[in-house]
Amino acid sequence: MLFLAFLLTGIFACKPAAKEEAAEVKAEAPFVWNPENFADKKIIRYQIQGFEKLTIQQKKLVYYLTQAGYSGRDIIWDQMYRHNLPIRHTLEKILESYQGDKNAADWQKFLLYAKNVFFSNGIHHHYSSDKFNPEFSREYFTDLMNQAGASLSEEALEAMFNPAVDPKRTNFDSNTDIVKNSAVNFYDPDITEKEVGDFYKKLIDKNDKEPVEYGLNSKLVRGADGKLSEAPWKVGGMYGNALAEVVKWLQKAVEVAENEAQANALKILIEYYQTGDLEKWEAYNIAWCQATEGDVDYINGFVEVYHDPKAMRGSYETIVQIKDFEASERMEKVAANAQYFEDNSPIMPEHKKKEVTGISYKVVTVAGEAGDASPSTPVGVNLPNSNWIRTKYGSKSVSLGNIIAAYENAEGPGILQEFAFDEAQIKRSQEFGSLAGKLHTALHEVIGHASGQLEQGVGQPGETLKNYASPLEEARADLVALYYIMDPKLIEFGLVPSDEVGKTEYEQYLRNGLMLQLRRIEPGKNIEQAHMRNRQMVSNWVFEKGKADNVVEKVARDGKTYIKINDYQKLRTLFGELLKEVQRIKSQGDYAAGKALIENYGVNVDRVIHDEVLARAAKLNIPPYGGFINPRLTPVTDANGEITDIKVEYPEDFLSQMLEYGKNYGFLK
Ligand SMILES: [Zn+2]
Repeated sequence: MLFLAFLLTGIFACKPAAKEEAAEVKAEAPFVWNPENFADKKIIRYQIQGFEKLTIQQKKLVYYLTQAGYSGRDIIWDQMYRHNLPIRHTLEKILESYQGDKNAADWQKFLLYAKNVFFSNGIHHHYSSDKFNPEFSREYFTDLMNQAGASLSEEALEAMFNPAVDPKRTNFDSNTDIVKNSAVNFYDPDITEKEVGDFYKKLIDKNDKEPVEYGLNSKLVRGADGKLSEAPWKVGGMYGNALAEVVKWLQKAVEVAENEAQANALKILIEYYQTGDLEKWEAYNIAWCQATEGDVDYINGFVEVYHDPKAMRGSYETIVQIKDFEASERMEKVAANAQYFEDNSPIMPEHKKKEVTGISYKVVTVAGEAGDASPSTPVGVNLPNSNWIRTKYGSKSVSLGNIIAAYENAEGPGILQEFAFDEAQIKRSQEFGSLAGKLHTALHEVIGHASGQLEQGVGQPGETLKNYASPLEEARADLVALYYIMDPKLIEFGLVPSDEVGKTEYEQYLRNGLMLQLRRIEPGKNIEQAHMRNRQMVSNWVFEKGKADNVVEKVARDGKTYIKINDYQKLRTLFGELLKEVQRIKSQGDYAAGKALIENYGVNVDRVIHDEVLARAAKLNIPPYGGFINPRLTPVTDANGEITDIKVEYPEDFLSQMLEYGKNYGFLK
């Protein structure tokens, strides 16, 4: 399961900077977070904070795991469409050898097409799944191919230039044969949905309580006799050349593993790639989710099934992660004071836990991504996907901290400048916005969800509050965070330098809840998503309840609306009152009251404000999708060829990185 970025962009209206380091590194040029935009995409760079804190053994581990990941990059290209790799090879040849006029309109159109294709790991849009239509002619492209000494089959050229051929990568339209009408390369082109159904009906034992993930690591193909069979993705099988390279690097990783459990999981993963045996994949997942010690972790495999119309076949994916030391320290400080937060909460005494422990929540720093996770990446991942393994052995849930930070940084000052009430709000957000956001997350996850208890005999919220359980639970956790982020005790705990952090969080939260998050709603629609309902409910409620005292004000200026907070302490009291009520609703299972809160405050969109927000945001021209340039890790060796260090560089050019990857990791022809 992965959490996509578009759900998150827009929550963070601040533009934080690496303030602490700014003074020391004055000689260096500022880090460019967003070197380029094209089409509906922005290119973002991210940093591996804390890499220098790793031991040389850990650095090697990170390096080997990223190399293993990149070595499988070609697989995702072939999985997404059978013509993707030859087309990419041709694009690469042209890009590397072109000598003509680079300002010519046709060349610019070709360049845009190539970038779109690299961003999507193929010729279909990474998100909408629609095929890209080149804005240059087939004749022009033929010319480019001739100049570069490249060629493509007639079939691949048709795929590129005929809009009617394979227009959708994955087709979910239930009125069509979703297998036959999907371009994705998980099934031979003439295989029908019914044939797939019949094939697996015979194979799957419905009574097996602990089933393997059927079809996860193979393509379904038709033999000469017309019969279907699975062509497994394994060393010696389909994608064998790339997987042999993946295994080679994983074997090196085993040698520098941080502990026995980690090494053991890696060994089973290697056996799985060597055999294609799905029971080994199960065993690996069990070993992996139990390997929780160590500062380095990773995802590597055929994992998510979103791209398969039948949701069986896994896309190749890898993410290499390092513990986020700074966030972990913050989480630990928050967790260490969990009892203080519970005892001093404004909720009713009978709803407080006598003994509370904070929930452990992992933030990681990404060191490299490939396959399905790159260039477009999730911002959080929860694995393994197998339900019975999750129930029996647990799962790992991580938030990709440096990716989220890079998104924030790349957003730039535009949104804040446009929507902040005054210079003071802008300054506060620039200075403390990032810390406020991180601290809100820590309080929300570690304290918020852990706090409070149900009254005797009251059922679980899913039963009592039904469809309102989820937005109310998010509201409860947000309100805990909002109430405490303004607590003077936080200064004492060493979590904030002053109440400016709380002030900016209040401003950010209301700006988002009352206005900015509406950017993600289509005109005329109401709010469906649980987190968005929660945020609007909380914001609207405090706005209304504080009206008599003018606590929060909507100021109109030059036809634009701004959110101004007049009394931060009263606002804190209001957050506390609402927290008490939401906790009561949960503790007593008061469905009617919960429904009323969400329906009256969280669902309906103010059409006038919505139109205004959309118009103001449209002027800023911020692309909706983000994709990332990976850092480059290079070993430093001594005279004997021993690795003494791993150097981290941050390449700036997206296309150059794509060409570099093609050269270094092009293991499928
Ligand atoms: Zn939550």
